[in-house]
Amino acid sequence: MRYVLKSLFCTLLFYYIGVIAVAQNIEGYVFVDNNKNSIMDSDEKGIKGVMVSNQKDVVITDEKGHFKIKLKEEKFIFVTKPEAYQFKLDKYNNPEFYFLFKTKKTKEQLKYRSSEPITEIPEFLYFPVYNNPGEEEHSCLLIGDPQMKDDEKLVFYKDGIIPYMATKQVDFYVVLGDISHNNPEILPKEKQISATLGVPGYRVFGNHDINYKAADNKHAAETFKMVYGPDYYSFDFGSFHYIILNNVLYDGWWKEINAPGRYSGGLSEEQKKWLINDLMLVSSNKTIVLFSHIPFDKIFVKENSMQTLFKALENHKKILAVSGHLHYIVAYDYTADDGWEYNANFEGLVAGAACGAWWSGLLDENNIPFSTCPDGSPKGFFQLNVTKDDYNYVFHPVNYPNDFQFRTYINKDEICVNWFVGKKTDSVWVYLDNNPIAIKLHNFIGTDSFVESIYKAHKDMQKTTLVKTAHLWKAKLPENISTGYHSVKVFARDSKGILFKGFKTFYIEK
Ligand SMILES: [Zn+2]
Repeated sequence: MRYVLKSLFCTLLFYYIGVIAVAQNIEGYVFVDNNKNSIMDSDEKGIKGVMVSNQKDVVITDEKGHFKIKLKEEKFIFVTKPEAYQFKLDKYNNPEFYFLFKTKKTKEQLKYRSSEPITEIPEFLYFPVYNNPGEEEHSCLLIGDPQMKDDEKLVFYKDGIIPYMATKQVDFYVVLGDISHNNPEILPKEKQISATLGVPGYRVFGNHDINYKAADNKHAAETFKMVYGPDYYSFDFGSFHYIILNNVLYDGWWKEINAPGRYSGGLSEEQKKWLINDLMLVSSNKTIVLFSHIPFDKIFVKENSMQTLFKALENHKKILAVSGHLHYIVAYDYTADDGWEYNANFEGLVAGAACGAWWSGLLDENNIPFSTCPDGSPKGFFQLNVTKDDYNYVFHPVNYPNDFQFRTYINKDEICVNWFVGKKTDSVWVYLDNNPIAIKLHNFIGTDSFVESIYKAHKDMQKTTLVKTAHLWKAKLPENISTGYHSVKVFARDSKGILFKGFKTFYIEK
């Protein structure tokens, strides 16, 4: 009897393993494609130690570049770009680093398209890569919410933002979500336009990119994934480990009232598991850069998602979290108040918006709105510059010269400076006329009175609410200041010691 049971157990075990091996695992190779024919020729070598994921588990390639990983329905198998290698680029200049395992058609009725199922499961997945030396120093553009509702806005982006981006020498760009404005049909068009930049692009999923007829969160990003690939993954560039996250959770179409459902900020349970598995395999010496649409702030993101993220980052030494969503700029540091109680230097940047105040306000001579953001910062984008193990970021305002980093104005008897990227702990001071004694400005939280007047003057801007920002500084003008023209030279120094300069002429009435 005992023997019978044992043999039955063995048979079951064997059968079980057989099912997994045949139906649920996939094998593949990451290899250096020296002759660029996309085929792993017998003399071409695999790369060891490359991370491969099914958006939950993460495995590492062996010395032959071989991996084996579980297939999960409707999930991507993707390879984390290894340092000093680049993937083959597709015709849109985007890296070919993923495979979507989808065997059945999406059943639910979505308003916007989704990926077609595969017709057969490949025996092996091959990911060709090429050497990409000199990655230690690199740079990328960070583009907040282009938020394009229709073809007119697409033209605004093509003619009003892309030419500015094209003047920057960078290795890649990242669009931080809300690429569309409730119209995912824009996404393939954005991809075609941005392809003209000639460098790889990475995209983050935003709440306005939702396929909003989806019944729940599962298919909310269907069109986004069809156009761009996985909604969360990672890639290495030099000593930096970049992580793209999808922190939009959609409640699904609201049947009772036949309207789009609500969304909230947070990470799906599967994504949390992946994030932990990913970061566990990344050396603590690597700088981590997180890209998400919604800022990781307890006001916007569920507490348990914040805690999971923070815990997963506990051993890392330097972290930067970049996001969009707010349409204004916030440069900040994570502290114990945010729930960050580990040692690392953890900085955050909310990168404004390419569409500014949703493409509104005064038009420039190309008929594109100036669209100043509700914190007073111009519409624009950022550039992240990396040198070995350090980085800095620079704001590129659109419609203004690059050195236009703050706006100075006189408001009643005060001199005010709105330094778009300033942190509340940074210093701002001015010299009035030829007086060699500096006047120190103090930081305050408030609304920018310049942008207040702009919003009042333009009807289409009035629906946008002005925001209180912490990147304002002010000081009282001397009481005995004489009538007539005066000047101020403005100086601002950030925490990295970089000095910014500005100048303003103003008139004092009797
Ligand atoms: Zn958003």
